[in-house]
Amino acid sequence: MEKIKYEKPVITKITAGIPNKFGLPAKQKIVSQIDGIAVDKLMDEYGSPVFVISEKTIRETYREARRAFETRYPKVQFAWSYKTNYLDAVCSIFHDEGSWAEVVSGFEFEKALSLGVKGTQILFNGPEKSEADLTLAINHNACIHIDHFDELYLLIETTRKIGKKARVAIRINMDTGIYPMWDRFGFNYENGEAWNAINRIMLAENLDLIGLHTHIGTYIMSTSAYAVAASKLSNLYMATHRKFNHWLKYIDLGGGFASKNTLKGAYMPGSETCPSFDEYAEAISNAIISSEIPHENLPVLFLETGRALIDDAGYLLTTVLANKRSVAGRRTMVIDAGVNLLFTSFWYNLGVYPTKEVAEYLEDTTIYGPLCMNIDVVRDAINFPHVKTGDRLVIERVGAYNMTQWMQFITFRPNVVLIDMEKKTHIIRKKEELGSIQNFEVNPKR
Ligand SMILES: *Cc1c(COP(=O)(O)O)cnc(C)c1O
Repeated sequence: MEKIKYEKPVITKITAGIPNKFGLPAKQKIVSQIDGIAVDKLMDEYGSPVFVISEKTIRETYREARRAFETRYPKVQFAWSYKTNYLDAVCSIFHDEGSWAEVVSGFEFEKALSLGVKGTQILFNGPEKSEADLTLAINHNACIHIDHFDELYLLIETTRKIGKKARVAIRINMDTGIYPMWDRFGFNYENGEAWNAINRIMLAENLDLIGLHTHIGTYIMSTSAYAVAASKLSNLYMATHRKFNHWLKYIDLGGGFASKNTLKGAYMPGSETCPSFDEYAEAISNAIISSEIPHENLPVLFLETGRALIDDAGYLLTTVLANKRSVAGRRTMVIDAGVNLLFTSFWYNLGVYPTKEVAEYLEDTTIYGPLCMNIDVVRDAINFPHVKTGDRLVIERVGAYNMTQWMQFITFRPNVVLIDMEKKTHIIRKKEELGSIQNFEVNPKR
């Protein structure tokens, strides 16, 4: 008979069924299907790991946000934040719902044009606009959101060179009670820089000032910060009218609404603590409507909401590669998707769920990705049931930023699959292969 292998004993606290400060623990959540399609079927067909996006969730979330604002304010326009998820199929759904495009680079600008977005419906943000980018934007009549004085002067020079006018807004940073304050983008409100920029633009004959923009930060859980931002922009809007007898067309409150993900270190789950679209809309519309602005001259309210509109629509399906014990006896697990695909795992405690009924016993577990890198930790501590090698897991709320910030490292980026409104599935970005990477390489002959 073969000698039985020695296994180091471990002592763990049994937590099943013991109440914590919120009461009895909820039953382990199981995610076995997405929009009625079995996770097993998706993985059999499209491999592991695989990103899955629900068109239904995108449309429902977008409509919910629009309803919240349109019932409180007369003129609302959303512009989809490309950098949050710029897969063509995803952007096209937002545009189909009526969203404009919000881009922060020449590449994103071209992508929006290629999807048929009219130049006049592109908001061009960001600190990096080359002369070529500005020329493209001017020629397409886009709204250029000026970030700093050097860009303003380059823009003035460019409009002269090509003999065309540019439609512009300025990005404004300000103290809204959120610290650290984002002051690296745009012109400051409190020190008069923003007012100075407005004055210079009003003096420039080739620039048509049409809006004021701010983006106060991201994952902002305070609705009052938006109220402060909206009233400061309203003040500048009125000041511009008073001095120049010029009504601007819009006020743009940027993005930054929190998604329902849970930040690392948060006490309560994000789904319980994040403000709803109604609460953000209430704060913003109150501030503008009750400002000095006469109601017949109210600006269009632009919103560039990113993560709050797409996070919930994205899933990453993954397979358990191994179960291990650390030297200290801690349960660890290796899965086939790592931080290369999950940039947001650095900020969030992402929800990871089994796809089928498992034992009720949960153990504090660390979930590692497959990379040969110490930082590849998907969850550093999660109460998780025992699952076996080959079992499948679903990681929820990964629609925002992961499919733009992912990196190609030692492995290929996987398929991205869309489940459409008819529950049909489509590959919307193909799994990479050796050629996808080597096609860009040149090996000098020796
Ligand atoms: C990133 C970004 C957004 C979207 O931000 P979220 O936090 O994802 O809502 C909107 N506007 C600008 C200018 C941005 O840079």
